[in-house]
Amino acid sequence: MSADLTGRRALVTGGASGIGEAIARAFAGAGAEVTVADLNAEGADRVATEIGGRAWAVDLSDTPALRELTLDVDILVNNAGIQHVSPIEQFDPERFSFMLRLMLEAPFLLIRAALPGMYARGFGRVLNVSSVHGIRASEYKSAYVTAKHGLEGLSKTTALEGGPRGVTSVCIDPGYVRSPLVEKQIADQARSHGIAEEEVLETVLLKDAAIKRLVEPAEVASLALWLAGPDAAMVTGASYTMDGGWSAH
Ligand code: NAD
Repeated sequence: MSADLTGRRALVTGGASGIGEAIARAFAGAGAEVTVADLNAEGADRVATEIGGRAWAVDLSDTPALRELTLDVDILVNNAGIQHVSPIEQFDPERFSFMLRLMLEAPFLLIRAALPGMYARGFGRVLNVSSVHGIRASEYKSAYVTAKHGLEGLSKTTALEGGPRGVTSVCIDPGYVRSPLVEKQIADQARSHGIAEEEVLETVLLKDAAIKRLVEPAEVASLALWLAGPDAAMVTGASYTMDGGWSAH
C-alpha cells in the first residue's frame, strides 16, 4: 500500500523502535515531515537523522506535562506502548496506572493538543496503534487489555467529533509483530516455561493464528501509510486488524 504524504507533518510516538520506527520511515519515504517522539532520546535522534525528520525526547507517561501542549501536525500516530504480564491479584497498582497514563491518557492529551490545528486546516488523520488486545482479552494482561480497549473507544469518539471537520480517526490492531517488545515477551515466556523460544511461538503466541508467523513492522507501516493517505478519506471510526487470522479463531 502506498500514498503521497508530501507536505504533511506527522508525529509518531514510540518512533525509535519496532512498529513506530517502521511507520516513521514509511511516512518520511512518502514525503511527510516526521517528528519521532520517544522516551529513548538516542533512538529518536538516530531514526530522525536517518529519515531527515525531527526528534522529540519525551516521557509520555508524564501526562501532567502534556496538558498545556499544542501540536501542529496533520497526522498523529499514537503508538508508544509497553507490555506487562501478571495475574490481576499480583498486578502492581502503580504499574497499572502508569500503563494507563502512557497508553490511554497520553493519546487523549495528544489528540486534544492536535485537534484545534487540524480543525483550523480542515484536515487531520489520527492513527491509534491499538492491538488485537483492543478487541479481545488475554489472561494476565489486564492493564494492556484495558488501555487498548479504552483506546478503541477514544478513537471512535474522535472519529465522531472530527468527521464533520475533516479529521478521521482509526485504530490499527496488530497481532504479534516482530519487535523488541515481542522478542522480550518470547524470551521471558521461554525462560519461565523452560521451553525453547520457537516452542513459545508455536504453542502460545501463534497457537490461534491461521498464518504461523509474526507480522513484520513494515507490514503494519504499509497499512498505516494507506490509512494516512488520500485513498482512506472515508475510513474513520474503524479498526483494522493485521494478525494472520489470530482474532478470527
Ligand atoms: P517497541 O518496544 O519496539 O517500541 C515501543 C517504543 O515506545 C519504544 O521506542 C519505547 O522507547 C517507546 N516508549 C516506551 N515508553 C515510553 C514513554 N514513557 N514515553 C515515550 N515513549 C515510550 O514496541 P512495538 O512492538 O513497536 O509496539 C508499538 C505499539 O504497538 C505499542 O503500543 C504496542 O502495544 C503495539 N502493539 C505491538 C504488538 C507487537 O506484537 N509488537 C502487537 C500489537 C500492538
